[in-house]
Amino acid sequence: MTATIFLLSCLLFKEALALTGSFWHITDMHWDPTYEVTDKPELVCASSGKRPALSAGVFGDYVCDSPWHLINSSVYAMKSILPDPDFIIWTGDDTPHVPNEDLGEEAVMNIISNLTHVITEVFPRTKVYSAMGNHDYHPKSQIPAAPNLIYNRTAELWDHWLDLQSQETFKKGGYYTEKLLNRNGYRMLVLNTNLYYDQNQVTQNMDDPADQFSWADQILTEAGTNKEKVYIIGHVPPGFFEKKRHKPWFSPKFNRRYLDLIKKHHSVILGQFFGHHHTDCFRMFYNQDGLPISTMFLSPGVTPWETTLPGVVKGANNPGIRVFEYDTETLLVKDIVTYYLNLTHANVDRGRWEKEYRLTESFRVPDASPASMHQALELMANDHCYLQKYYEFNSVSYDLTDCDSDCRVDHVCAAREVDFYRYEDCLVKEGAASIFGGWQLLLPTAVSLVMASW
Ligand SMILES: [Zn+2]
Ligand SMILES: [Zn+2]
Repeated sequence: MTATIFLLSCLLFKEALALTGSFWHITDMHWDPTYEVTDKPELVCASSGKRPALSAGVFGDYVCDSPWHLINSSVYAMKSILPDPDFIIWTGDDTPHVPNEDLGEEAVMNIISNLTHVITEVFPRTKVYSAMGNHDYHPKSQIPAAPNLIYNRTAELWDHWLDLQSQETFKKGGYYTEKLLNRNGYRMLVLNTNLYYDQNQVTQNMDDPADQFSWADQILTEAGTNKEKVYIIGHVPPGFFEKKRHKPWFSPKFNRRYLDLIKKHHSVILGQFFGHHHTDCFRMFYNQDGLPISTMFLSPGVTPWETTLPGVVKGANNPGIRVFEYDTETLLVKDIVTYYLNLTHANVDRGRWEKEYRLTESFRVPDASPASMHQALELMANDHCYLQKYYEFNSVSYDLTDCDSDCRVDHVCAAREVDFYRYEDCLVKEGAASIFGGWQLLLPTAVSLVMASW
């Protein structure tokens, strides 16, 4: 009897295992080819912009983009941790944070080419779904809504990952879709959301740059008809930056349109995976009844580069890479394991990539479904222990200072509300208004002007 039960549970366990697949997400590698350890801290790397790199070592420095050694180490860490993933998603930003004059089209292409080669060399048999970042163009962030040389050359560099139709749409607008792992019923949608970035001056007057929204709407509608399950990947995310209050990335009209797209098609979308922040966080999407319908996972970057965005304090991170575990039948995201390199330790000892945390263990949720991520968000909104944990993971265990009440509001509202107006409401509801509190009594007009001018 006991033996039968044992056998039965073994079989069930095996079946559960068979349904679990894994894939890597790597993003924001930002290779700085000028990085060189010297005794002049201001001259270690061009991406520091003359900020002194005080603890520069072979793996990099917190004010610099990645040296090649770090890039290489991250890709080989992927190989040693999970050598045979089902697929890899790579969400862009390959070049360093330097002025346009210091790069140029050839340099940008050369960097994209080198990174493509190292990933292909280390994972020759793995399918890679690759999205462009705002730094993968010259001039940076000015990604056009029309065919151009960089789309063409990138599509050629990635031709072993793209089918013919994907190459065609990529050359047109930097986006594509393919069956996920060539299986019927499963789809990957790779978006070029750099077209919606508010820094992109060439698309601001357009309603639907490169017709991407209408194309995505059509693909997702067909996915619904064909009962497909879809993952979406992209680089620049909608919503707000959790490290800087009121800081969105998309222009308002594009933010609204993206949100509408997800709301309309959420039943076929099983996950959204983006980069650009260099931080580890997530964004919730709710329906009109307030029920969680989708989650966007933002993975940390490989570059440790401290942001120069005014007002952000402690804006660096440790290099991070992550594994998603998913149900191969339903595409439900079951768990997330983030691995990282403690840069300070790596530079003095040997570089050791370690597990930072597993989502279900650290946040005590059953999986990474929208309902569970909503639960995780409520935990961090209401329990300081969870908030602090989330906050430390946000910078990949770089910034271990206390997340105070303003920090709580910034992180909670950025995760909860992608919509611009609802985000502002959230700030007020969660108590951010207290920073205006004193003024409100004295200067009601000035405060309403501040709020209205946003
Ligand atoms: Zn980046
Ligand atoms: Zn970016």
